[in-house]
Amino acid sequence: MHHTQPPAPEFASIGDYTWHDRTACRNTDPDLADRLFFPNPSDFEEIREAKEICSWCPVRRICLDNALETDARHGIRGGLTREERLPLHIGLRYRRDRARVEAALGGRNVHLSAAEREDLAHMALEKHLTADEFAAILRVTLKYAKQLLRDARKDRRRAVEAPVDAALVQTALDGTPTEFKNKSDRLAYLDAAYAAQVPYTEVARILGKSLTHAADLLSEAEQRAADRAYAKLHERLNPAPPTTTVSVPENGASQDPRNLKAAA
Ligand code: SF4
Repeated sequence: MHHTQPPAPEFASIGDYTWHDRTACRNTDPDLADRLFFPNPSDFEEIREAKEICSWCPVRRICLDNALETDARHGIRGGLTREERLPLHIGLRYRRDRARVEAALGGRNVHLSAAEREDLAHMALEKHLTADEFAAILRVTLKYAKQLLRDARKDRRRAVEAPVDAALVQTALDGTPTEFKNKSDRLAYLDAAYAAQVPYTEVARILGKSLTHAADLLSEAEQRAADRAYAKLHERLNPAPPTTTVSVPENGASQDPRNLKAAA
C-alpha cells in the first residue's frame, strides 16, 4: 500500500515534537548517531556523513529552527555544524518571519524572536487589540504585554513626528562622526550604510559604538532590507491577501495539546 506523508509544516508550535517521528536520523544506531552528529571539528568523514543524512531529512528546517530557539549549540542540527550555526544563533533575535507573526496572531503558540514580538505588537495596535487580548496571544503577563504595546506606540509616534534629516544622514555617510538624537535618523543612516556596504568598523567610528554593537546594528539593517524585499515580493505574489483572523487562545493554553517530548 502506498503511504503518503503529510506535508511538513513550515515551523512547529512550541512543545510540539511530533516532527521527531519524521527525522531522517531517527533510526540511526545510538552510538553511530553520537559519532556522526556530535563529531569533533576534525572528524571530516563523520561530518560529511551526518550532513548527507540531513540533506534528505523532511524536517530539516524545523530541526534547525528548534536548535536555534532552544539555544542548542552542540552537534550537527539541520545540516549545520556548531560553527556554521553560530551566526544564526547570534542573529536569532533579529529574525523577522512574517509567517510566524501572522500564525501567532491567529492563535498558534510559535516561537517569536524579539523583532517578531515587536512586529506583533504593531499588528496588535493596527487591529485595536486590547492589552488582555495581546497578552493572551503572546502568553505573557499583562504587564509585559502593556510594555510591548507602549513601545510600539512610541515607535509609531517617533516615525510620524520625526521625518528623516537627510543632510545629517549624508554627513555621517561622508565620514563625519555623528550623534543621532532621533531614532529615525539613526535607522536611515544604518540602512544607507548597509546598502552602501560601509564596513562595521567605520559604522562603529561614526556612531562612537563598540565594534560588536556596530556589527549588531548592521545586522538589523540587513534584516530590515530583507524584510522590505520580502514585503515587495509578497505583495507581487499576493496582490489581495486574505484578511488575517485574530484568534485569542482560551486561558493562554497552547493550541497544540500533544506536547509529546521535552525539548531536545
Ligand atoms: S536535520 Fe536534524 S532531524 Fe534531520 S537528520 Fe539532520 S539532525 Fe536529524
